[in-house]
Amino acid sequence: MVDLLKHAVPGVQGLHPYVPGKPAEELERELGLARIVKLASNENPLGMSPRAAEAATEALAGLNLYPDDTGFRLKARLAERLDMSSDQITLGAGSSDVLDMVARTFLGPGRNAVFSAHSFAMYAIYTQAMGAEGRVADPVSADDAVMPYGHDLSQMAALVDEQTKVVFIANPNNPTGTWLEETALLEFIEALPKSVIVVLDEAYTEYVKPGLLPDGTKWVEQFPNLIVTRTFSKIYGLAGLRIGYGVAGAELTALINRVRHPFNANSVALRAAEAALEDDDFVARSAALNREGLAQYQKAFHAMGLKVLPSIGNFVCVDFGRSGAELFDQLLRRGVIVRPVGNYGLPDCLRISVGTAEENAICIEALQSVLST
Ligand SMILES: *Cc1c(COP(=O)(O)O)cnc(C)c1O
Repeated sequence: MVDLLKHAVPGVQGLHPYVPGKPAEELERELGLARIVKLASNENPLGMSPRAAEAATEALAGLNLYPDDTGFRLKARLAERLDMSSDQITLGAGSSDVLDMVARTFLGPGRNAVFSAHSFAMYAIYTQAMGAEGRVADPVSADDAVMPYGHDLSQMAALVDEQTKVVFIANPNNPTGTWLEETALLEFIEALPKSVIVVLDEAYTEYVKPGLLPDGTKWVEQFPNLIVTRTFSKIYGLAGLRIGYGVAGAELTALINRVRHPFNANSVALRAAEAALEDDDFVARSAALNREGLAQYQKAFHAMGLKVLPSIGNFVCVDFGRSGAELFDQLLRRGVIVRPVGNYGLPDCLRISVGTAEENAICIEALQSVLST
């Protein structure tokens, strides 16, 4: 027998694949439960924008044709909204695809990428797959009252050396929900060598009240080494379609597009995303529901004496001080799927997405029942 593992490239030999949230269907099959509440993957509990649904349905008629590889119309809409030009926008099959393009363009053996502990899992995976070194910065201390487990920018800066080609930052961060403020982030980027690509991952930015978070897209003129990534998977409710984008200077954009797979943004996704972008009402409703849900969780979990990390995403991270994996299993048996985050270095925590008020209440009740036994 040939041991194929030995023949894989060194980066892949050591790779642990991404563990997604458990699909509701799978749990239904396993336990035969009638009602499953899935709060595991930060999906939009309101579904998708009705305008996007309509556009997607219309686009089905053209599925015999390849998509528009340039994504002309979606890029034009995005450019207009962001007040920049289309040649500064990269489309991806989800923003993960854009993160991967950056890794494939700038990382390889002998190079490294810097990111924070307890940050988005794909940073480590894409780095490792390229045979580059992932340098994991210590997070803010767990006892910090403001942003426990969040990005510590000074720790990150300390890890940057001549071989550092990429720095990944999520703002707000997943799975912690913590965030970075404008001045600190700007000073960090300013102090980095201009040869280091800064990936500012803003997957949740549309959930945040204006003024609370910096808008990284405003900085791409000033920093040719900055790329800001965003997605239609979260507030726009199009996770299943796989569409996201990156915003950067034209030079960086052209470079990473050299490694882009042809037709990576599919034709249904292109049309749906275009429509979703115009659906301000759906976005506003989603953000409002999310704010209420965050408050509902905070209140209930505090009343239960639990430690909840500050969050401005569509999820909260709760520190139970005991095995999150066990609690996850017990919640599963009650039909509630949350996300264990041991693989993010947080074995005592669970990440819980904000659902509808009713779903949140079911989750809170299940948790009360589990913790009282
Ligand atoms: C969800 C998420 C993404 C992107 O997901 P896609 O579906 O690939 O767009 C990127 N970064 C973070 C931090 C996320 O939580």
